[in-house]
Parts: sequence; C-alpha cells; structure tokens
Amino acid sequence: MTRKTALTDPTARWRDAPIAPIGGERSSDRCAAPAAESPAAESPAAESPAAVPPATAAPPLESLQETDTVGPAIDPNAPGDEGPRGIVARLATVRNSSWLASAALHLLFLIVLALLTYRLGGTERGLLIEGVWSGPDSATPLESITLAEATADHQSEQQDLPVEVDLSIVSKHIADASIIAPQQASAIEDNALVGLQTGGATTAAERVVFLGGGGLSARTPEGRKKYGDQYGATRQSEMAVENALRWLAEHQRDDGSWSFDLRLSPCDGRCRNGKKANDDTPTPSTAATGLALLAFLGAGYTPDVGPYQEVVQRGLYYLRSTAAESEFGYDWQQGGSMYGQGIALMAISEALGMTKHEDRFDSDLYHYAERGTRFTVIAQHDSGSWGYTPGSPGDTTLTGWQILSLIGARKAGIETRSDTFTRAKEFLMSVREGPEFQFGYRTPKAEKTTTAIALTLLIYLGQTPGHTLFDEAIDKLAEQGPTLTNVYHDYYATLALHHFRHRDWESWNNQLRDHLVRTQATEGHEAGSWHFRDQWGDVGGRVYTTAMCALTLEVYYRFLPLYDAPPDFPL
Ligand SMILES: [Zn+2]
Repeated sequence: MTRKTALTDPTARWRDAPIAPIGGERSSDRCAAPAAESPAAESPAAESPAAVPPATAAPPLESLQETDTVGPAIDPNAPGDEGPRGIVARLATVRNSSWLASAALHLLFLIVLALLTYRLGGTERGLLIEGVWSGPDSATPLESITLAEATADHQSEQQDLPVEVDLSIVSKHIADASIIAPQQASAIEDNALVGLQTGGATTAAERVVFLGGGGLSARTPEGRKKYGDQYGATRQSEMAVENALRWLAEHQRDDGSWSFDLRLSPCDGRCRNGKKANDDTPTPSTAATGLALLAFLGAGYTPDVGPYQEVVQRGLYYLRSTAAESEFGYDWQQGGSMYGQGIALMAISEALGMTKHEDRFDSDLYHYAERGTRFTVIAQHDSGSWGYTPGSPGDTTLTGWQILSLIGARKAGIETRSDTFTRAKEFLMSVREGPEFQFGYRTPKAEKTTTAIALTLLIYLGQTPGHTLFDEAIDKLAEQGPTLTNVYHDYYATLALHHFRHRDWESWNNQLRDHLVRTQATEGHEAGSWHFRDQWGDVGGRVYTTAMCALTLEVYYRFLPLYDAPPDFPL
C-alpha cells in the first residue's frame, strides 16, 4: 500500500525513539501514519526487529526504584514516594548526588552498546517475564443469547515466541518521562457535570469532566436486547457479532493469545489477509489479544458469564503472564509499542469492571489493572500525549488508546494521577487545526481519522453538546458518513455519534451496520471475519478488522451513552 511508516527502518526507530520517535517522521504522513500503526500495534509478537529492543540491564536506574512499588493510586501530592513526584524527587536526588556522572556514563554506555548490538543484527534477547495465574476458576453461566459453544480446542504445534521485554529501555524512557511531573494538582472534578462550555475554544487547559454515562451495565443478554432495540441493532447484526466472536475464538492460540499473523496456528494460513510477511511494523500479541478480548467483553462475555468463559479466561491469563514487571508498573508493550500497553490495559480494566459484584472483585485483576495504569500514567509525555515508547512525544491514535484504557481503569476503581487527563486534553487541543474541531496526528494538520478519534476522546473527557464549533464538527462527521473501509475511523466515529446521541444516528448506523452485515465472510475458514483493503487493515489483517467490526456492531450496548444515561457506574 501507500502506507509508509518510519518503522520500516528498525535502526531509525531506536535511534529516534527516545527523543523524537519514529512518529516524528510520521507527522508528515498524517493520515497514513497513525493508522498504519494502530493495527500495527495489534499484531504478532516480537517479530519485527524493531519490536525487540536489545537487552541490557539498567543499573543506573536501580537507584531510582521506588520503595513502594504497588501504590494503589498515583497521586503526585501524596506523601511518600509512591507517585511520579516521588520518582521525580528521586531523580532530583540522583542529579544532585556525586555519583550521578558515573551512573549517567554507565547508562549512556549501555545504551550505545545496545544500539550498536542491535544495528549489527544483535540477537533478540530480553528478559523473560512470567506472570502468575491466579484468576477466577468459578463459573456461573448466564443464559446466553444465541451462542453456539465456543470452540477453543486448538491443536497447535506452533510455539509462541518468548515474551521479551527490555526493561532497561523502558526504564530509561520512563525516567525521562517522569521528569515532567506536574507542579500542581489538576482540575479533574469527579462526578461534576460541569459543562465544558469553552469547548476548548480558548486555552487548552480547560477542565476535564467525567460524565456519568458510558457504563458497562448494559452488557447482559437483557441489556443487549433492550439497548440493541433502542439504538438500532438488528437480528442480523447480532448474529454477525456472534459469528465474529466464534471466528475469533477459533483463532485463539494455545497460550491464550491472538496474533495478527494468520500464518501461525491455529489458522495456519487458512484465512487470507493476515499481517503481511514483509511488514515489520511492531504488532505485539498483547494488542491482538486485548483487542479480541474487548470484542468478547463488549458482548457481555466474561471469565464467568456466557459461552466463552474459557476463551476469555485464557486470554486474560495470557495478558497477565506477559505483563512485564518494571519499577513503574506493568508493561504490555511486549517489545512493540505503547499500542500493546493501551489495548491490553483496556481489556484488563473492562474485565475487572465487569466481574465486580458490589464490593467483591477479582483482586488479582485489580492488581494488574492498577500496576498497568501506573505504567501508562508515568509513560505520558509532557506534551500530554503518549508515543511509541514510554515518555516519548506521541500522537492522536496512540493517545486515544491510552486515554480510553485509563478511563476504563478509572471506571473499574483505579485512580490515576490527578492531571493525566487534563494534560491529555491539552495535547489534543494542540493538534487542532484552526478554530474548528478538526484534528491532526501529531500536528494541527487535520485529517479525517484523527478528527474522529479526537472528537470521541473529547466527549469522554467531558465535552458536552452546546458548543457550536464542536457540535458542527460532530455534524460534519455524521454528514460525511462512514467510510465503510476504514474501520478505525468508523469505529471511533460511531462511538462519538453514539455517545452524542446525534440526530443523524439512525442514518449513520443503518448504513454502517448493514454494510458490515453484508460484508462479513460467510464461507470456509474465514466465515465470521472481515477484511477491508486499506493501509491499516493490511497491517492488522483479519484479526484486527474482525475485532474492530465486532466492537462497532456492539456499540448499542457496549457503552451506555455518555449523555442521556443516568450514572450507572461509580466513578
Ligand atoms: Zn483462519
């Protein structure tokens, strides 16, 4: 395709990542770049050389370790050394210490050595991270809607690649990132339905507000029926969701993961349109697995509800087992990119939220969600964005996954740093082109997909109807209609119009819904899947496209609208 990403040059990736990552080159690509990466992030593990940084230890940073590595909330103002402020304080201490020069030299030496090793074709070594499975083993089947039995019995000879994560690189980036710790608490106001009347029309530092809707409580058979009827699902679209989930279940690997590379078992190449063999875009299995899990969770299927309990359990197990422990929390980049982090955390957080029963919750899932949240929060760049590597300047699409994952974590009871969302919004407003609400990838050069993403995120961050320019942007989104091939754009635009309860929803939905129903594969091994030829579908392949289409068709009940629904979920 015409897609051109900087990731095709792995050396460039690591050379540039810490300061002006890959994305910097992409800024000129605007549209192609973001998308190319998004699916990218969602593909097979550690295959691309760029996805596997060289392994080195990070001795200089050991001194920065926090005393409390498992802080429940991340509060820069909290006493003690838990939060980023603590990290910053330690960094400051380090800077002032007499042995800093020595430590810095060691670090520099190790990085240079690592890069040299890498450029010379160094081995893909890294730390093997193993988690402990302690998930729920009880099963309380709920009446399923229509489902056939999940078929998760995959015979595979394929061995998964070991999960390799270079903690030294991670630590370095995080250390860089943590220097930006805020000087003041932010203006997040919980449960305050304060209209964001400025709509970003003035400064970028408006308050972030969390609306009461958007909960997950409709993800039940009853909810699917009720809200499906109310917002426009059809029997055919519900069948399409189930067919998609069956296809995904059939493509779960032995270790519980999904891969964007369909040449691997259990597909063994029987489906077309997997990740291309010569595509070296980082596509971690954590992203593919998180995306597939989100599709099951979106239909109300959890580790202990519905016909895919084992599938979901095994997928969550994979994410737990691949969570790389770092001094700043759990890292799901899997040597790939922050796409893996955002999507995996989003799946873990939704699973946590959905398996909560009053005061009872899966403490192990909570632990992973909390530690993953911590990593993501600290990995935010001082521009408010998230980049391909922790602490690097980012873009709209990567930032989108991180914001949504953190909002999911927050809904599940995990606290974030007080200014995380405010800063994220500042970044979004920094890539707005002109007064209209049109947004770019890394710069204010607007394009369609990043606009859809940014508008959706702003709604999640409290943008309410009534601001003329914002409303006009939403109107424009609806008027343009779905692309019908760019599922990344259509997924976000659908979310925005759903949450906004836009007057043109029915027209939008009918067109996209019926298109997806019509285009779903119905024959052979591919039955239940989708694939559209665009630069992103080509990277993420059929697993990415199928999961995104399923999520799009679940929109009616996956999230209650952020506006006209009463608060149904504690924030
Ligand atoms: Zn297949």
